[in-house]
Amino acid sequence: MDAYYDVLVIGGGPGGTPAAMALAQAGKKVLLVEAGAGLGGTCLFEGCIPSKIFHETARRLRDINQAGTFGIQLPTELVHLDWHHVQARKREILQRRSGAAIKKVAQFKTLELLFGRAQLQGPRQAEITPFDGETITLRFEQCILATGSKPNRLPVPGADLPRVYSSDSILDINCIPEYLTVIGAGPIGVELAQIFHTLGANVTLMERGPRILGGVDEELARMLEQHLIAQGITLHVNCPVRNICHTGNGVFVQYDIGGDCDQVFATAVLAAAGRHARVDGLGLEHTAVKVGHYGIEVDETLQTTEPGLYAVGDVTGQPMFAHWATAQGLALARHLLGQPAPFPQAAHNSAAIFSVPELAMAGLTEEQAMAAGMDVAVAHYDFSQDARAQIGGHANGLLKIVYNKSDRKVVGVHVLVDGAADLMGEAALLVRLGLPLEAIAGTIHPHPTLTESFVQAARMALAANMSAGH
Ligand SMILES: Cc1cc2nc3c(=O)[nH]c(=O)nc-3n(C[C@H](O)[C@H](O)[C@H](O)COP(=O)(O)OP(=O)(O)OC[C@H]3O[C@@H](n4cnc5c(N)ncnc54)[C@H](O)[C@@H]3O)c2cc1C
Repeated sequence: MDAYYDVLVIGGGPGGTPAAMALAQAGKKVLLVEAGAGLGGTCLFEGCIPSKIFHETARRLRDINQAGTFGIQLPTELVHLDWHHVQARKREILQRRSGAAIKKVAQFKTLELLFGRAQLQGPRQAEITPFDGETITLRFEQCILATGSKPNRLPVPGADLPRVYSSDSILDINCIPEYLTVIGAGPIGVELAQIFHTLGANVTLMERGPRILGGVDEELARMLEQHLIAQGITLHVNCPVRNICHTGNGVFVQYDIGGDCDQVFATAVLAAAGRHARVDGLGLEHTAVKVGHYGIEVDETLQTTEPGLYAVGDVTGQPMFAHWATAQGLALARHLLGQPAPFPQAAHNSAAIFSVPELAMAGLTEEQAMAAGMDVAVAHYDFSQDARAQIGGHANGLLKIVYNKSDRKVVGVHVLVDGAADLMGEAALLVRLGLPLEAIAGTIHPHPTLTESFVQAARMALAANMSAGH
């Protein structure tokens, strides 16, 4: 007889795993299937964690190089990067985190974890091919598709040359490339360009659009562009890549620039041109699940076009963030347990780009708010006046609070400054609760911290409104 589960969860990333645990906690019989070598998904093995491990090494190296600013004289010629150690440290952290996740899952009596590949055979039936053991056929009442995303292949000749890396494969690179060309200036491209530049590569960052980080607050993205250039990264915007071709000890990346063609030499190329939903081999053809341009189509309860089949995280398309996948997974688990649950709203999402300086955001940009018909204004704070930023040696950044003119409720917060990512907890709370500027101004924030920027921006905007008679 076939095995039977209340819920089959396909994909053990930040979307699937918390949902599986929450369902099992409430007594549901759950099977979690993961096709990777450990538990944690892209976030743990090819995304957030490995990239931030490299980011941390780059940060330490930058601190050493800038030690003189803080009165510490170091013989920098003695400093060298042990890349094999960095890679070994990365592998150790990844294994440790995956092991801890597996242990945690094992604590739930009604949750089974299988390493293998799941394929749907129909709307209530699936086949699992485990890495060790025989193929299993099972039936289920409900299924959560949480299979994530994978990098887009560059649609140009030469994209498959050996020196062309994806964001997955570059994380396992065995040395720092001398000349790295990064194609695509989204969050992943910008972060990895800066990391490898700090670690010693000569980096060219190519973007076919008019600026880096499309969709992010334009003023802050433009400021970050100036930082990248000042740091020594060569930035080309409005430059679609046409071809990558082999040459003696590297490749030429050929691109359009103002109607002409030019090329840049690289010993390695990182293709960071977006990601797409991972649905291949999932057996969706045996169901009524529809896949649109961005990913699996879902309704407001994350149900697909096949009743009983749900999808969360990257596989549903933008936004592609680990915390968003988890928020969706947990909301869906509550919904399936019959507990009325608000589903996460994109207008309340927060995100951080771990650039230098960091660029982080919660809620809507001014542009998005206006496009949604809101009458908004923006409160600013320039970090050049900020005590904490001056102490830290990075007093070059900006905070923007987007708020409704009528009731001064916050609808978006956008920050460019080192440490911006850690300001987003407060920012996300302001946006989700729709708190007004008065609430920020009346809340005591500790001194000297970057969080004071919220109070300063709010007070200045309120004072300006008052003197304008609003
Ligand atoms: C370089 C990089 C840096 C990033 N940095 C950040 C960051 O700093 N912060 C942030 O929030 N986000 C970051 N992200 C994005 C984040 O990693 C993803 O948004 C997140 O992992 C999505 O979670 P998920 O559960 O939807 O999918 P995933 O994490 O991709 O998990 C899906 C899992 O499903 C498994 N699977 C797929 N098909 C099957 C199948 N048929 N059977 C069984 N299992 C299957 C896969 O093996 C995978 O483990 C980054 C991504 C990249 C690439």
